[in-house]
Amino acid sequence: MEKRKVVIIGSGPAGYTAAIYAARANLKPVLFEGFMSGPAGGQLMTTTDVENFPGFPDGILGPTMMENFKKQAVKFDTKVLTEDVKSIDLTKHPFEIIGSKSSFYAHSVIIATGATAKRLDIPGSRDGEFWQKGVTACAICDGAAPIFRDKNLFVIGGGDSAVEEAVFLTKYAKKVFIVHRRDELRASKIMAERALNHPKIEILWNNIIAEIYGDDIVKGVVLKDSQNGNTMKYDAGGVFFAIGHLPNTAFLNNQLKLDSDKYIVTGDNSSKTNVEGVFAAGDVKDRIYRQAITAAGSGCMAAIDAERWLSEKGYID
Ligand code: NAP
Repeated sequence: MEKRKVVIIGSGPAGYTAAIYAARANLKPVLFEGFMSGPAGGQLMTTTDVENFPGFPDGILGPTMMENFKKQAVKFDTKVLTEDVKSIDLTKHPFEIIGSKSSFYAHSVIIATGATAKRLDIPGSRDGEFWQKGVTACAICDGAAPIFRDKNLFVIGGGDSAVEEAVFLTKYAKKVFIVHRRDELRASKIMAERALNHPKIEILWNNIIAEIYGDDIVKGVVLKDSQNGNTMKYDAGGVFFAIGHLPNTAFLNNQLKLDSDKYIVTGDNSSKTNVEGVFAAGDVKDRIYRQAITAAGSGCMAAIDAERWLSEKGYID
């Protein structure tokens, strides 16, 4: 089995930025971009215009951006494998990484497998229906798109994300409705008050969205009161899921320290995990910011941390 200085798992902005930095440090990284585990390129592959990544004043399509990240990593000699990691053994060093076709020993590993926004299986919300045609899971990424301007927008959830996204959307929307399944917000008091006091936000308590309909894009939703079963139709331009994220850490089999929601725990302002030589970057360790730019920044940190660690341990000159 081939031995490498660094193996990177994950192909979003964090993984590719780690690869660019590691490759330029002459570490000849291998990067598993995934295959069946989700879209190679990560969450940006399922979005349209990215208008908040600095350096692109006219915006850039998410998939184009990820193609560029990959090109840049490959240009500096990253070996990209279109495979999933089937298992990883972090209990011995060098670490053992078993892919669906290739396997490696690695002196250091960077985990950048991201997180998956939770979605609900509402009729009309699925791929091939209105997903990314008015239905999304990231208001901050997608909310400024023209299709959402001056429309009724519906945010599903009752936590801090739902409130934050609802407040963000008030900049563009005619009105924002928070659809919550209970009669009390989970969001922190200060955030909850922001939603409760906002003139453009209305909270629809004890409600679920039963159906999303439209033509080419979303035109309306059917709300269902979960207490009395009554339904009501509303005109709508968009539906935003804000019901939490699942970090993609199951494949680690609890070999790294995770928090109660399964995010990888790293040191403050560092990418170091509780296992020496294993680093984490991007949404797999970040429950707060979850932006392409912050993921890219933490990928850079992970590559620098890995290079320093390899050097300290004498694995590189
Ligand atoms: P969260 O706190 O887990 O809230 C998820 C919300 O979605 C809950 O209100 C939950 O309802 C609802 N939900 C979950 N599954 C649902 C389903 N199947 N159908 C309908 N509703 C469903 O997630 P989050 O809001 O993304 O926050 C995650 C963490 O990040 C939290 O620790 C939060 O404080 C933090 N955060 C902080 C900020 C900030 O401080 N600015 C911003 C964003 C996030 P129930 O309440 O009924 O369970």
